[in-house]
Amino acid sequence: MTEMKFIADVMVGKLARWLRVLGFDAAYSNQYDDDEIIRRANADHRVILTRDTRLAARKHNGRCLLIDSGDYREQLRQVLGLLGLKDFNVFSRCLECNAVLEDIDRESAFEKVPAYVYLTHERFARCPSCERIYWHGTHAEEMLKQLRL
Ligand SMILES: [Zn+2]
Repeated sequence: MTEMKFIADVMVGKLARWLRVLGFDAAYSNQYDDDEIIRRANADHRVILTRDTRLAARKHNGRCLLIDSGDYREQLRQVLGLLGLKDFNVFSRCLECNAVLEDIDRESAFEKVPAYVYLTHERFARCPSCERIYWHGTHAEEMLKQLRL
């Protein structure tokens, strides 16, 4: 698993979510202005992802990728291609808040997921931040299929 970390500006929020699907630490909030993005990028050595040429031109300690396409699939291909990223850790990070998921045993998922999901899945994980429950084999893999990586 690579240690590559990202921060996305407001125009590429969907890209940030996809990077989380693949297991990458991708900070994103529609509350971040350019100064906040630069500050956070410097503090955590994050690669800035933006479609804004003015933000891309600003100096910070790390890399910045100016994203060409408006389509998230193309955006993801651009990022993975430019940085040579091939190893993914799907099902490891919360899509909503970027926190690393914690595995939970199947029994403790029982009351938190629909019965059908409980009966048809073996592995469950929980976001320590928003408490959302994730299960393997559904969301992330469906999304990856869509993407045809
Ligand atoms: Zn969460």
